[in-house]
Amino acid sequence: MNQDQDKPDFSNWSCPLPLADYPNIVMGHGGGGKLGNELVEHLFLPAFRNAALENLGDAAVLDLPFNGKPSRIAMSTDSFVVRPMFFPGGSIGELAVNGTVNDLAVSGAVPKYLTAGFILEEGLPLAQLAAIVADVAKAAQIAGVQIVTGDTKVVERGHGDGVYINTAGVGVIREGITVGPHRAQPGDVVLVSGSIGDHGMAILSVREGLEFESPIRSDCAALNGLIANVLDAVGPQVHAMRDPTRGGLASTLNEIASSSGVGVEIDEIALPVHAEVQSACEILGLDPVYVANEGKVVLFVAPEAAEQALAVLRAHPLGREAARIGHVVGEHPRMLIARTAMGSNRVIPTQIGEQLPRIC
Ligand code: MG
Repeated sequence: MNQDQDKPDFSNWSCPLPLADYPNIVMGHGGGGKLGNELVEHLFLPAFRNAALENLGDAAVLDLPFNGKPSRIAMSTDSFVVRPMFFPGGSIGELAVNGTVNDLAVSGAVPKYLTAGFILEEGLPLAQLAAIVADVAKAAQIAGVQIVTGDTKVVERGHGDGVYINTAGVGVIREGITVGPHRAQPGDVVLVSGSIGDHGMAILSVREGLEFESPIRSDCAALNGLIANVLDAVGPQVHAMRDPTRGGLASTLNEIASSSGVGVEIDEIALPVHAEVQSACEILGLDPVYVANEGKVVLFVAPEAAEQALAVLRAHPLGREAARIGHVVGEHPRMLIARTAMGSNRVIPTQIGEQLPRIC
């Protein structure tokens, strides 16, 4: 199958494309880059517009007063179509739980309840489904959430790809916490909780049959415990958080720069990248800043709280390789600039389409 034949040539395009340029959906619409953003901005948002949706956070933050007391919840949904269903370090079942748990956690919520919808293809071995369901259960237990309702649908052979899973989740927003992609401010320090690119390269290595001395494992993990520790320590000083999934660190930083109307500067030599991930990226011509993560969080923290936040991250098993990677500036709003190892600066744009389809 040559997917390249279906893809337009993006090489000469530099500005956002009007939706009308694409009469049909292309794989790039699912890649977490500009094409996906175009769908959101020109199709979904105009159709559904409301204050909660407009924030375009990882989860919607909703006022839900209870017993006369103000209270806020976060609500999120995500669909999982990763191929293959099992990979080093995780499976579609673990991703389906951790992805939604993380979207709630980075919104400042304590994740509580999840739904799980399974779309199954006729002919799927029951043993495979059982293994996936066991992974969902195990991941939910580790994350401390319950699967409280669900759905099963079956499509004819050839009309699915084994299993697709949708999860939705709700959580209660912690008191005194207001984080959002629009709240980064000049002076904020940018932290990342660990190495980047592990998930995407684990998936791609399996697909491409690449073998390395130590196999690349997905970082798939629930981040609610790690994030809770940071919020306990310096909660009010945390301005924005996001899990850099599809589109990787670069897309996340660009999105926050855009939403907040600020510039973001990072130091390339400060980026934690495992050696085997770096080599795999070089072999395949990929840049780790664009490669998906499934167990990392990026935090924008007020400068006076940055050292403490970093220490708290590093004290948690999922944050041992946490690093300070950059800061927010008032100049070059909505742009991500990296200082290279050579000391020069380069602009890191949002990707147009997908680098790696069906990564989650
Ligand atoms: Mg997210």
